[in-house]
Amino acid sequence: MRIFCIGQNDAAHAREMGRSPAAPADPPVVFMKPPSALVPPGHDVPWPPHPSALHFETELVAGIGRSGRPADESDALRFLSGFTLGFDLTLRDLQAELKAAGHPWERAKAFDHSALCGALVPVPWQPITFTGSINGVVRQSGDTKQMIHPVPRLLVELGRVWSLQPGDLVFTGTPAGVGPLARGDTLVAESPVLGRFAWRMEA
Ligand code: ZN
Repeated sequence: MRIFCIGQNDAAHAREMGRSPAAPADPPVVFMKPPSALVPPGHDVPWPPHPSALHFETELVAGIGRSGRPADESDALRFLSGFTLGFDLTLRDLQAELKAAGHPWERAKAFDHSALCGALVPVPWQPITFTGSINGVVRQSGDTKQMIHPVPRLLVELGRVWSLQPGDLVFTGTPAGVGPLARGDTLVAESPVLGRFAWRMEA
């Protein structure tokens, strides 16, 4: 089981990260998190030891249900086992330092308890809207129609490098509106199609 993550898959978020909207990431930006990053919903999230702003990124997460490499975008649909919502937690200051130094992002993105992931809902690829709320205030609104690389294309791109495996998860990139968390914050990701998933940052 692998956790793939896609960066800069929303034009407005790419802009807030300082990337030119005229140059969308193509092929998509891909990074990974280890299984130790996963936190199921309903759990308190331990605070990472590294001193840096800890940002929330609300994301649609795709589940993979079969082995192999999609031949094309329509073939990719049969690899999907469902969707859920999650948060890609990011040590933003550290990520900026790593980017500036030309280093990989793992220390800022792949730390323990950095992938909050809901339960998969066995629904097919379809238009999905979702929100991310912190302490009851909606901070991010996502819509699959705004994705630079839609999920079927992401699976084709991943399949060029990795043979997909059942149990793999794909965090598909965050919309605009990312921001810092504080101790004790409540994070809720919600969608009419997928339901509601909640976590609490350790006090
Ligand atoms: Zn992300």
